Amino acid sequence: MLTSCGVEAFVPRGDEVELLTAQGTQRFSHAICAASPSSSARLFRAAPQLAPIAVQIEALSFQPITTIYLQYPESVRLSQPMLGLDRCFAQWVFDRGRIAGQRGLIAAVISAEGLHQELQQEQLAQKVVQELHEQLGIAATPLWHQVIAEKRATFSCEPNLPRPAHTTPLPNVLLAGDYTAGDYPATLESAVMSGIRCAEEILRKHTQ
Ligand SMILES: Cc1cc2nc3c(=O)[nH]c(=O)nc-3n(C[C@H](O)[C@H](O)[C@H](O)COP(=O)(O)OP(=O)(O)OC[C@H]3O[C@@H](n4cnc5c(N)ncnc54)[C@H](O)[C@@H]3O)c2cc1C
Repeated sequence: MLTSCGVEAFVPRGDEVELLTAQGTQRFSHAICAASPSSSARLFRAAPQLAPIAVQIEALSFQPITTIYLQYPESVRLSQPMLGLDRCFAQWVFDRGRIAGQRGLIAAVISAEGLHQELQQEQLAQKVVQELHEQLGIAATPLWHQVIAEKRATFSCEPNLPRPAHTTPLPNVLLAGDYTAGDYPATLESAVMSGIRCAEEILRKHTQ
């Protein structure tokens, strides 16, 4: 078994798939490619039968997620582990103290593009501090803050977007990930369900 090593290439070899990793090469009866969209596209591009799927993956666009971490004094806590805010820059607020024992640490999350991107990180942090004061009554001043903006956090889930299927022209190569065709946008549910679909497909063929 190969674990904790990135796949550098996979090569279809008849009924098998060969995986090339830093730990060596190994053959498998099936491969489910569950890497990020960019890695999956890179791996698929190298195999002529899979290259059209790489093109489809590369056509996806992405949305950012910005998280503003605010370390308040340890006595600061939310009334719930997670709260939603309405008409604010901060959309969801997590009490990391209640969730993970990091007392006083509040994480405010902003999904997708928006007006918040027009602010400098320092301005955005101060804006969220103000919102938490006004909306939740947190009057304390944070000891420190950190803004982390993931520019390609999730694929952009638009109406009628063609998302790649979990099956490929190669019957023993499947594709999993939140961005593959399914009922959900970029969520953990979507990722898990795509993995289950791939596993079911392999089992179905195996028992035929
Ligand atoms: C900041 C942020 C907040 C989020 N919040 C939520 C939320 O509240 N609720 C929710 O449902 N979803 C949330 N999401 C989305 C959720 O994280 C994703 O939908 C989910 O993780 C997608 O799972 P995945 O298995 O498709 O991909 P990933 O979780 O991205 O897993 C892909 C894996 O492939 C590995 N990999 C990449 N290249 C290779 C390679 N060459 N060889 C081997 N392995 C490789 C990567 O290391 C990674 O572990 C959030 C995402 C972000 C970024």
